[in-house]
Amino acid sequence: MPPPRTRGTALRQQLAELRGPDVPAKALDARALAALAANPGCARRAILDGAGVDKTALASALGAPAAFGQSQFALTRGNAFEAKVKADGGAELLRLVHEKLDRSAEPPADARVPDLTATGPRGRTARTELELREATARPGEWTLLDHPMLALDVAGSPAFLEPDAVVVHPDGGWTVVEIKSFPLLDGSADPAKVGAAARQAAVYVLALEEFAARLGAEPDGAPAPYVRHRVLLVCPRDFSNLPAASAMDIRKQRAVTARQLARLTRIEDIAAALPEGICFSPERPAEELTAAVESVPAAYAPECLSACELAFHCRARSRQEGAVTTLGRPVRAELGGLTTVEEVLAAARGEAGDPGDPAVAALRRAAALRSEALEAACR
Ligand code: SF4
Repeated sequence: MPPPRTRGTALRQQLAELRGPDVPAKALDARALAALAANPGCARRAILDGAGVDKTALASALGAPAAFGQSQFALTRGNAFEAKVKADGGAELLRLVHEKLDRSAEPPADARVPDLTATGPRGRTARTELELREATARPGEWTLLDHPMLALDVAGSPAFLEPDAVVVHPDGGWTVVEIKSFPLLDGSADPAKVGAAARQAAVYVLALEEFAARLGAEPDGAPAPYVRHRVLLVCPRDFSNLPAASAMDIRKQRAVTARQLARLTRIEDIAAALPEGICFSPERPAEELTAAVESVPAAYAPECLSACELAFHCRARSRQEGAVTTLGRPVRAELGGLTTVEEVLAAARGEAGDPGDPAVAALRRAAALRSEALEAACR
């Protein structure tokens, strides 16, 4: 077996070939990771994300464009709100962190806001890590890291993530801050949007913890910095442009995401099972692209519709195959070994299936009850 360094280079080369010649890699962000972790069994998504394929462009090239994402208007409004929250050296943002998460500390005054500029994601990550290390070594001070860059190992490849902000408290603790443009109405917001923000924040917390663990393992004997599991969500108050904040406990999302990311099939294994010469470049003809995408097993579920750019393509294929996955994960789980609608109907009619199988028995019982009900209705 070749040494790990050679294997890593060969894998990077293979992933670049999958993306297509001269196609730049699309970086994984926390939103994509949260969605990836929500469907860890999907090898298709894992390899496309691992290879940095632009799934939005791929879906369009397949003739099944994605139907979600933020409008230009929403992006502009979100950026303007974030700039307002971070104005004056982040004074308002730090005040909110102090008020919602760390009232016992000295109020933030003259907080440090280090320059995190560097070239490329690796350079920016190194710069962020340097500043985190330095800020943690200055007890009693507040530090605001504006758009830091964090690295997280995902299925054997580094993903570079950019939270809106990370605050280092006077006690050396680290807090993730998420700034969103959906409103907080009377102190509460759309639960689906808050849930998505919490899952995203959990990914950032995991990345911070990965670095904190590395710091803790250094031979100087200093304990690993502490990453807070309560993060700050900042949104516009009611329908104004004034910031309001709420502390979110993301322990549950963190635990779920960590478990799901650990279960992700290693990209190396998926790549090794692919046929020779396949390429996902959106420049390729639709027919060729369809064959390439279909060569990687997928795990479609209706949840994909709000989380993955390829959802319309995968749903269409799933329906064509009569796969029971289109009916949702709970139904799929109830049906055991029956994977197609045809098999399910045959089992219910008593034409196929093992009568000792609880799923088959339940289907036959349901079919009998249905017939009885129909007969009674016709009498
Ligand atoms: S839409 Fe397709 S590729 Fe995306 S996660 Fe679902 S099954 Fe996987």
